[in-house]
Amino acid sequence: MMPEQRLPLTIDPLRYAKARRELAGTVAFAQMPRLAEMLSATEGLAQVQMSFLFDEEHRTVVKVCVQATLPLICQRCMQTVQYPVDVTAALCPVNDEAEAALLPEHYEPVVLTDEQCSPLNMVEEELLLSIPLVPVHHDKDCALGQNQAYYAAEPVVLDQDPLDRHHPFEVLAQLKGKK
Ligand SMILES: [Zn+2]
Repeated sequence: MMPEQRLPLTIDPLRYAKARRELAGTVAFAQMPRLAEMLSATEGLAQVQMSFLFDEEHRTVVKVCVQATLPLICQRCMQTVQYPVDVTAALCPVNDEAEAALLPEHYEPVVLTDEQCSPLNMVEEELLLSIPLVPVHHDKDCALGQNQAYYAAEPVVLDQDPLDRHHPFEVLAQLKGKK
């Protein structure tokens, strides 16, 4: 089956899971206003794949893969820093927060409206979760990275690893290992 290029605005994930549908396409940064606010330019596309399935406990699951290179703004020199994102997440449609609270940790909840959810919102959410709180260049690439006077005046902001959120158990294991 050929994947669809343009993602539908809303979908019924239960119906899609019953049909084992897959979606693939692109979403323009300009279509994601909350994301666009954090970018130095809004030209560009995110590549998206979604598959719909049921897990062993008959939950509807939406597997979302998003790849993009986001032009973020370095908070040290205020110039563009190209930030590659390649994220895979398992989303679980729920009707409310109470249902969301019952999900196993490896699922991210998506709250449905009239049984429907928006692929665009899911993609935007994944991208927002993937970008660092304070984006900065690596020292060697940053206009202000080698400036010692700058370091004397300001605290150093460390890069954050966006993949950490998918591996809470690994982090826990590391913490335990340090004892
Ligand atoms: Zn910089």
